[in-house]
Amino acid sequence: MAATFACIAGGPLCRLLESAALDAHRLEPSETPFGRSEVLFAVEQPAPGLYLVPRQLPGQGRIGPASFNYRATLYRLKDLGVRYVLSWTGARTITRQLAVGQTVLLDDLIDLTHLRATSFFERRGLGMLRQFPVFCPTLRAVVEGVLAAMKLPYYSGGTAAVTEGPRLETPAEIRLLGSHGADLVTHQFVPEVFLAKELQICLAGAAYVVDFAETGSRYRPFIPGELFGGLTHSSQADRLEVLSRALPEILCKVAARLVTAPKGCQCEQPMAAHIQENGLPEDWHHWFD
Ligand SMILES: [Zn+2]
Repeated sequence: MAATFACIAGGPLCRLLESAALDAHRLEPSETPFGRSEVLFAVEQPAPGLYLVPRQLPGQGRIGPASFNYRATLYRLKDLGVRYVLSWTGARTITRQLAVGQTVLLDDLIDLTHLRATSFFERRGLGMLRQFPVFCPTLRAVVEGVLAAMKLPYYSGGTAAVTEGPRLETPAEIRLLGSHGADLVTHQFVPEVFLAKELQICLAGAAYVVDFAETGSRYRPFIPGELFGGLTHSSQADRLEVLSRALPEILCKVAARLVTAPKGCQCEQPMAAHIQENGLPEDWHHWFD
């Protein structure tokens, strides 16, 4: 039996579902105290216990991060018994040390969003949780082990700046983010990384480099009709295709390894002080009443 593990991702997960690379059945949205959850898919074989959470459904447009109901969806995942969540998304590299097609297993994050619900405890005086480690070290180590075994290019550790979007950043904004310690920039990972802590779920962030962040260089002119206006070269897009095709195998191997992975994290305890001091019930379903 595989661990209860879920992956949230956009285009690669959409293509995985379109190609039926994994035997999965659709779970329709359900009502939660935070509205309707998004559509999920439960994998039957070869990794029962693996849930897929697409940010984009086949044949449909991408759901923006501010519109995607992360609170309801994570609530439902928790209700299904999910203990580990991998957020998998594309990002633009700010540092020159990273290459297109490389996956960065994040260890830190700068939240610059302003339209997203980042807590289950709005107006409750709860949710003042320490944000270190930002991402689950147990799940991150398992993902790293799988990427290494599959000989896929990855980098362990990195800071992502999360901007609201949907527009991309200006050259001056990228210089600012770089000077503040950001290695990559993306629109994802928020709010799920913060919400997972409140539900005491292990969450890791994997950012695959899709292009270089905007530098304003005349050597990368705007190209109408090209991916990201020409920021990603067509030759580099091939590397992304390799990674996208590998995703089903990555997820199945992570799910399998999680069953026996030594639990070296404390992700199941961020709410312990709130439970003790504020008299929250043992059953997490009643934390939000
Ligand atoms: Zn953990």
